[in-house]
Amino acid sequence: MDCRKLTDSEMIDMMRSASLRPSLHRLAVLRYIGNSHSHPSPDEVYRELSRENQSLSRSTVYNSIHALVEAGLVRELDIDAGGKHYDLAPQPRHGHFVCRKCGLIFDMPLPEGFAPMSAGGFMIDSIELYGRGLCPECASSPAESAV
Ligand SMILES: [Zn+2]
Ligand SMILES: [Zn+2]
Repeated sequence: MDCRKLTDSEMIDMMRSASLRPSLHRLAVLRYIGNSHSHPSPDEVYRELSRENQSLSRSTVYNSIHALVEAGLVRELDIDAGGKHYDLAPQPRHGHFVCRKCGLIFDMPLPEGFAPMSAGGFMIDSIELYGRGLCPECASSPAESAV
């Protein structure tokens, strides 16, 4: 996984090439989703950004996320982890893992040779791979072995 942090000017370029006006709010939202690697929910994005900017409204954050999704820069994860979660869209292909205990979503490498192939007349745009279970931390917590 390429976990290099994107710079603001790279993100502004991404928005420009997606024909999206790079407003400060959109930049802040993209920066958080792209660089936190935490697959946040809209509420988490709002909570985090409103700490630095008290006047930020929830709807501004939601609208910014929506605009970034429409522009193809952020994608909504098709994952059942209690509400919506978002990830940076232009990224190497990877799967996701949801911990059933702490609820965190982790990036998961795809199995070797895993690629969508178009066969039998189906033109597959994407295949999502999701794993579910316990993250290393929860798996090694003593409470879990008692369950
Ligand atoms: Zn966990
Ligand atoms: Zn991810």
